[in-house]
Amino acid sequence: MRRAIDSGRPPHALLLVGPRGVGKTTLALDLAAGLACTAIDPATRPCRSCAGCRKVAHGNHPDVHRITPEGAGEQIRLPQVQALIGELALLPMEAPVRVAIIESADRLNPDAQNALLKTLEEPVGAACIVLCADDPATILPTVASRSARARLGPVPTAEIAALVVAHTALDAVRARAVAAAADGAPGVALALARSPDALLIRDRIARQLVDLVGADRRTRLEASATLMIDGAALEEALAAPAEAPVDPAPPTRRSSTTRAPKATSARPSRRPEPAERRRAARRVLAIWRDVARDVGMRVGDARAAVRGVDLLEELDAAAGMPLPALTSFLDRLDGSTAALEAYASPELLLDGLLLAWPRPAPGTRT
Ligand SMILES: [Zn+2]
Repeated sequence: MRRAIDSGRPPHALLLVGPRGVGKTTLALDLAAGLACTAIDPATRPCRSCAGCRKVAHGNHPDVHRITPEGAGEQIRLPQVQALIGELALLPMEAPVRVAIIESADRLNPDAQNALLKTLEEPVGAACIVLCADDPATILPTVASRSARARLGPVPTAEIAALVVAHTALDAVRARAVAAAADGAPGVALALARSPDALLIRDRIARQLVDLVGADRRTRLEASATLMIDGAALEEALAAPAEAPVDPAPPTRRSSTTRAPKATSARPSRRPEPAERRRAARRVLAIWRDVARDVGMRVGDARAAVRGVDLLEELDAAAGMPLPALTSFLDRLDGSTAALEAYASPELLLDGLLLAWPRPAPGTRT
């Protein structure tokens, strides 16, 4: 990245791989800002204060292009890539190169990847295409082999907590809790920290999952709808702040009026789109994984390793859960997460999990 910025000559294609929220898009935007920056000394780019840097931060630099999945199937389709290629062929307007950031590149469909491949084989104009992928398995080998590659690993919890304190209004204690919940992904921690609603909803979902340990079949199935609604609310609460770049300015509490229009537009009451329901279920499943992990720590009497410290008392009710049952539940949770990505019905998956969520063995409740 540093070399690319210093020389002003980035690779034609760059594949950034790493878990969701780890910072792939942030890094791609830093590269774009570094290239668009007008600071005299290359070592200080991106300076974050010149016109070029500010335009990148605000998403209105004419040479920086971003594409994301669209539509019910959450795919990046051929027309989006064709439009992008058309723009990349034009000379850059202000920066030395045009930078295209393809978020969730693992959702490029095969047609779109093949169109992209042609551009990578015969690069035109001055352009750098950054592919950000959570799961590189779906990237065509021919595309991957023509890209420079970088892998972003999980960030230590203490570093994430420090980042949260530096960039948000949260105190150290709350920042540590948010960092622990983010599982190595600073983007997830910052999104949670910047949205008080998201924190509340996340806690509510976690609490409900813990409560359901002792619930009967009927109560569990009734909880499914609430969980989906909360999952959708969490997705909405996280959507706008997650897009916000890390702001080097002193932290200010973000009000709802600073959110992107997407998040504030009035929505008629209707059954949510399949993609929205899938995203809602994905949120619930991710929290469930954390809760199940914490239950495991509580069952194994490793209270200090519990991440959701707010739930310590509630977790006592789950202390009698047999570990083998919990282990096979975690496997099922993984399977359901994969099935969700393969377009299984979110509601059916959730119902199945609710019924499979192990009960404490009789007589072991503390
Ligand atoms: Zn700058």
